[in-house]
Amino acid sequence: MPPAESIAPSSQKASALRRALLGWYDRARRNLPWRRDCDPYRVWISEIMLQQTRVETVIDYFNRFIAAFPTVSDLARAREDRVLKLWEGLGYYSRARNLHAAAKTIAGRGKFPHDAAGWRELPGVGRYTAGAIASIALGERAAVVDGNVKRVLARLFLIEAPIEAAASVELCWSLAERLVPPKRPGDFNQAMMELGARVCLPRKPLCSECPLRAHCAALKANAVERLPVRKAKPKPPHVQVVAAAIRKNGRYLLGRRPPSGMLGGLWEFPGGKVEPGETYEEALERELREELGVGVRVGERVVSVDHAYTHLTVTIHLYRCELIEGEPRALHHTEIKWVARSRFGQYAFPKANLKFLDLL
Ligand code: SF4
Repeated sequence: MPPAESIAPSSQKASALRRALLGWYDRARRNLPWRRDCDPYRVWISEIMLQQTRVETVIDYFNRFIAAFPTVSDLARAREDRVLKLWEGLGYYSRARNLHAAAKTIAGRGKFPHDAAGWRELPGVGRYTAGAIASIALGERAAVVDGNVKRVLARLFLIEAPIEAAASVELCWSLAERLVPPKRPGDFNQAMMELGARVCLPRKPLCSECPLRAHCAALKANAVERLPVRKAKPKPPHVQVVAAAIRKNGRYLLGRRPPSGMLGGLWEFPGGKVEPGETYEEALERELREELGVGVRVGERVVSVDHAYTHLTVTIHLYRCELIEGEPRALHHTEIKWVARSRFGQYAFPKANLKFLDLL
């Protein structure tokens, strides 16, 4: 791996690169709701939402969230259920819980952190997010490196090593820190990310429209299509899951998942993973005995839906079930409730569950 000093541009070339990129950004930047001002609260909310999520998806969520919680004090005072409901479908729910916890800390102190190091002390704020908030909202000369920036840097500087390797990531940070200018650091960082999202695309990048083509080592070396180098990822495991629609007096039994862990704090239909050698019906009977302490008669299958998370894929089989023994208790969930179908809209469900709510 070459050291950053050996591939970083001279200060003259770096200035030309910055000028070209910022000139393009001034002409081509998208008009996004969080770009209307540099308010730290709005920048922070947008950066957390944008982690692992596309800009097009985030826009509506951002507008609804800001309308519901216009200030950090409003967010700090909100019930977690309401925060999760506004996050419903966006995924990575620990982001919402961390955001809520951090809002309470900020509201308690009565002020936002004043630099990247201060932001990094808050839950859910890592090196990238702290750099983004500090550069955009505070004008601090802090770098950002996300997936888009890594791709742009790998091509600009002909980084041939696998881009996710720790040494490559560190090299990207070092290059980004050298490139980010003292003036307009936030615009420069947003321009790098936007170039990656709209021009320096993973496949078929639009090099003829790129403001950095004169600076791009991969273009000169005819290596654009093969960079960045990625190690083949193993296929995520597939899991069969069963879930129960248990109805009593016109209401369905829902459980709230424990706060820590995947989908923490969301509401779901009780059930769980099918173990090897079990039929779906046997798995559901076992899960409901373990989770709720009840015996059930498993009825017709309502639907089977597929859903993909980043690290696994699942098929959820939803069955109608009838209670035949015991009163349900929250042995696994933090809370259970009987909820009328017409009130489902008040509860935050995992995206996979949203796929079958309308069938009940
Ligand atoms: S010239 Fe092509 S490969 Fe190089 S930075 Fe621009 S879009 Fe990416």
